[in-house]
Amino acid sequence: MQNDLVAALDIGGTKIAGALVDGQGRLLLRCQRPTPAQEDAETVMAAVTAVLGELAASPLWARATAVGIGSAGPVDAAAGTVSPVNVPGWRDFPLVPRVARATGGRPVTLVGDGVAMAAAEHWRGAARGCRNALCLVVSTGVGGGLVLDGRLRAGPTGNAGHIGHISVDLDGEPCPCGGRGCVERIASGPSIARRALADGWRPGPDGDASAAAVAASARAGDPVAAASYERAARALAAGIAATATLVEIETAVVGGGVAGAGEVLFAPLRRLLRSYATLSFVRRLTVVPALTGTDAGLIGAAAAASLGGRSETAAVAGGPS
Ligand SMILES: [Zn+2]
Repeated sequence: MQNDLVAALDIGGTKIAGALVDGQGRLLLRCQRPTPAQEDAETVMAAVTAVLGELAASPLWARATAVGIGSAGPVDAAAGTVSPVNVPGWRDFPLVPRVARATGGRPVTLVGDGVAMAAAEHWRGAARGCRNALCLVVSTGVGGGLVLDGRLRAGPTGNAGHIGHISVDLDGEPCPCGGRGCVERIASGPSIARRALADGWRPGPDGDASAAAVAASARAGDPVAAASYERAARALAAGIAATATLVEIETAVVGGGVAGAGEVLFAPLRRLLRSYATLSFVRRLTVVPALTGTDAGLIGAAAAASLGGRSETAAVAGGPS
């Protein structure tokens, strides 16, 4: 019997996904539940337990030696708790001990979903081989993670690179995080849809008022829909340029549902990036679509758990004797 799999959890404001992931980043088994995001803490946890139960019912489960979690942030990897902005019932929720108990005491590694996505893109995606990259998830929220000097940098609590909650509009709208004018308040899928509706865009006969529907209208030439994406692209460009100026990233990888808009997002993003990333050392900054798709959170959670194991081994092997 091989013991070569990681049980991965991807916890977001819309869905809770789980998978058994092998050493090549392949998902051997995958399942998911909707996130009861507006319910109480135990109802949300019950959805996590249901996903784990589905994984544990597989004969492959015995091969899973560790659990990796990528969660909507903020997370506190040091304390093992999560407080996702879009899941109000979870504040300092002790997710790591609860998942450890539900998985027979397997070691659990927790990172923010943005860090997980960066881990996935660095391991199997568009940031492979990159020494310095910012990877962004733009969907219900906006998250991010950093690869610096060739290594994933999660920060002391697992939130480094959390670009969604830096302010790019000093007098902008209040954000549920307590700040104002955050990137997420402008560039998330719901924000793009809200802005388009407020400016007079109307959904088609199917009533779909999602960011994807706004993107379809923009592609068909609707100027209000295009303007909402342009504004999202501007917020992302300002945030990416600020990050590049601070820590000299060479590449920004953009994934998540909103990146599915393709050139509706990427064309203004590349153009606007040139107007914000102006200093000589950031002018060559490139922005590219993510490659790991909707599985990024799961692949990254598995990578983070595997990396944790490897660095522990390295510390033991390389430590003073
Ligand atoms: Zn915020």
